[in-house]
Amino acid sequence: MIKELSTILFICFVIKGLLVAQITDPKATEVWEPVPRMVTPGQGTAPPSDAIVLFDGNDLSEWTHNGGAPVKWNLEGGAMTVAKGTGSIFTKRTFGDCQLHIEWRAPVDDNDEGQDRGNSGIFLQNRYEVQVLDSHGGKTYPNGQAGSLYKQSIPLVNACRPAGEWQVYDIIYKAPIFNKDGIRTAPGYVTVLHNGVLIQNHFKLQGTTEYIGLPKNIAHGKAPIQLQDHGEKVSYRNIWIRAF
Ligand code: MG
Repeated sequence: MIKELSTILFICFVIKGLLVAQITDPKATEVWEPVPRMVTPGQGTAPPSDAIVLFDGNDLSEWTHNGGAPVKWNLEGGAMTVAKGTGSIFTKRTFGDCQLHIEWRAPVDDNDEGQDRGNSGIFLQNRYEVQVLDSHGGKTYPNGQAGSLYKQSIPLVNACRPAGEWQVYDIIYKAPIFNKDGIRTAPGYVTVLHNGVLIQNHFKLQGTTEYIGLPKNIAHGKAPIQLQDHGEKVSYRNIWIRAF
């Protein structure tokens, strides 16, 4: 039996060798289909041609408060700013896998420390927070500083600009997959560039962002992106997304 198996394996090995040996033409390994569709890149940080613009500085029509109420955040100077106590805002559309470009600015007049220093946050699928915080100054736990996956992943470096300056997150997100029984069969992954600097490199999400306790993995589908009202006057502008 073992001898027969060895013979079969040997024959397979020889056939594979012959097949590999036969490829002498470079054209044999050229793949011509499918052809990627054309996308026109934006100038600078402007959206590419296939992006959905979630905020261009002019209106808040893509956003809502919980329950569908119109957004009460302040719209001024091409930016929207958290109006303390009005609550977080959510995209009306839902998303899964995506590339998200978002610019944010921490307030200069926030002399608070730690987690109260320009805190906001970007929740992918309304569950997984990429932290927004003034981490150019102040002191907090590193797995809660700007660019952390809150309480899950410390950023690789601190690429923060000072409060009052605009900052950019470019986020590449792969959503977790759940089967029909609600079991997570593949984790989510998050990559983040902060002001062009890689700070999260294909981080494997442990589960939902939790302030207290451990991450959870409860089945969900596409969901809104949430911008957090943490009670500080954090501003946002130029938000666009490429959904997959
Ligand atoms: Mg936050």
